[in-house]
Amino acid sequence: MSVAGYAGASDTGRKRRHNEDSYVVAPPLFAVADGMGGAQAGEIASKLAAAALEDTDPGAMSGPERVTMLIQEANRRVHERANADPSTSGMGTTMTVALVEGTSVTFGHVGDSRAYRYRNGTIEQITEDHSLVNELLKSGKLSPEEADTHPQRSVITRAVGTDPDVDVDSFTIEAEEGDVFLICSDGLTDMVRDADILDVLDRFHEDLDRATKSLVSAANRGGGEDNITVVAFAISDASDADATERMPAVDEADDTMENVRLPAVDTMVVPPEEVEHVFVEPGSPEAVAVARRDPISPAARVRLVLMMLLLLAIAAVLLVWGLLR
Ligand code: MG
Repeated sequence: MSVAGYAGASDTGRKRRHNEDSYVVAPPLFAVADGMGGAQAGEIASKLAAAALEDTDPGAMSGPERVTMLIQEANRRVHERANADPSTSGMGTTMTVALVEGTSVTFGHVGDSRAYRYRNGTIEQITEDHSLVNELLKSGKLSPEEADTHPQRSVITRAVGTDPDVDVDSFTIEAEEGDVFLICSDGLTDMVRDADILDVLDRFHEDLDRATKSLVSAANRGGGEDNITVVAFAISDASDADATERMPAVDEADDTMENVRLPAVDTMVVPPEEVEHVFVEPGSPEAVAVARRDPISPAARVRLVLMMLLLLAIAAVLLVWGLLR
């Protein structure tokens, strides 16, 4: 068995100015990285991580050892860059990687970019989010419904690049004929329910280009609050020639349109002092707080509105003063 088809699609979404997600479709390797950091550092982090996957020589390594080594190499590069360049200080990225070797598919991941397996009309999430909300779910402090709308659902507990070392979760599963695997950033899973992801795969599991594009569209219809990235690959007995004929779909959104529609606000990392309070919960003592995905904090939004009101008031005073002279 081998990779029979694959596709990748990524979109800025409807609320962000930049796409800080990156992905890799380079059979037998597939990956999604969701970057975070001030200004455009998140973009740099996810791109560095993706490049590390593609140009690191795995030597004789295979399976979990290889996948873990690749993510650790990505971690080393992102961390090194963040230390060398103050404008990218503190940047990081999620990273979920799949490596296909015959019938075995090995996954390695850090953060909350998920992998799913579609098999016989069912879908199963096969990675466990490294997120605050998942910690609270596991310890019974939150219900799944509460988790869906939790204000800190964007806080992840592990990231690639924020520390000198990273703990990688890895596992291997045996694929069956017809299995489709999906790797995606939270911009998909926060906007589209698993049942609706399944619906798309039921319809388009034989046309992964269409499937990935449909999922991106569904996330945008759901609000498009974050960057959306979807990578899909199918395992089958079909020959390798099939896979090389089918080019991966690179579907970047038109950034110009996004820029017209959206205010000029840069992505920010929530500072540690604002994040720490969410870890007061004894359920997550080991958590290293990494906050992200807040393009603008509530406090900053209030400041922005006050500033605009002040400017309007000054303009009004000047206008009246000018008319009275
Ligand atoms: Mg994201």
